[in-house]
Amino acid sequence: MAATAKTRHRSAGRPTTKPKLGQNFLVDVGAAQRIVDALGDISRCTVVEIGPGRGAITSLLAATAEKLIAIELDRTLAAQLRMAYLRNPKVEIIEADVLRVDCDSLVQGRSKQITTAPQEMPHKVARVVGNLPYYITSDILLKLFECHKNFDRIVIMVQKEVADRIAAEPGTRDYGVLSATAQLYAEVENLFTLPPAAFSPPPKVHSSVLRLRVAPKAAALGVDERGFIAFVRQVFAQKRKTLGNNLKQHFETGQINSALEAASLKADVRAEAVPLPQMAALYRSLYKR
Ligand code: SAM
Repeated sequence: MAATAKTRHRSAGRPTTKPKLGQNFLVDVGAAQRIVDALGDISRCTVVEIGPGRGAITSLLAATAEKLIAIELDRTLAAQLRMAYLRNPKVEIIEADVLRVDCDSLVQGRSKQITTAPQEMPHKVARVVGNLPYYITSDILLKLFECHKNFDRIVIMVQKEVADRIAAEPGTRDYGVLSATAQLYAEVENLFTLPPAAFSPPPKVHSSVLRLRVAPKAAALGVDERGFIAFVRQVFAQKRKTLGNNLKQHFETGQINSALEAASLKADVRAEAVPLPQMAALYRSLYKR
């Protein structure tokens, strides 16, 4: 968040904030409770918190989750949290960069087993929550999508404009790579927005809370995740251009036209107007899948 926050906050006994780490701490207690409530019943769940900071959300999670794993990069904050939860065996504080954490061993090694379909290997599922450090929002999201099999619900606070893009419907101005990618993995709900005053120090932007119910669609759409996401990037490469023009550097005009026709799309369609099923049909047709 704090790439835009310039103010430094000092108070007795507290570490100063590190704007480079996106440290805008939530001070609205009601909002912290609403974020935790958005996770649903976590009394039998492992919850992974990204960037617990000074613990505004952490303290509520620690009281209700079956197990809490909180990942904080700031050494001082991580040490303070570890001290605060020393006597609570349900809470584990990991001092690490969330982007470098191995989700599989984090979740499969620790959390409660939830899914046990008879034909599958037992698989454990956790929930994720975080008032994200905004300077790495997209990287964190991509990481969560990559290891989505470990999670069934994700509740995150991000910059409002980014939330609007993630939750945007096809056919709207905000619909783009971020929306299509997020919606390939999850049902997205834009829950509520908070003003800068809800944080200390206050950032220059509003923030919104999203809930993502993990529901991967790639298999049903008949596409491979990596290839399809790379394709989505191609069709959105230049938003001013038509989808066909964006594809011209990768395919022959004839190929593009027949793929558009096969997907029931007009020749001059723009990528933001195309819902995922038709985008997948276009991809399958161009790559003969
Ligand atoms: N959860 C707290 C709250 O709501 O008040 C703090 C949120 S603050 C916006 C983001 C937190 O993420 C900070 O505590 C920051 O130190 C931490 N952070 C920044 N980069 C991180 C990273 N790469 N991995 C883990 N934590 C990170």
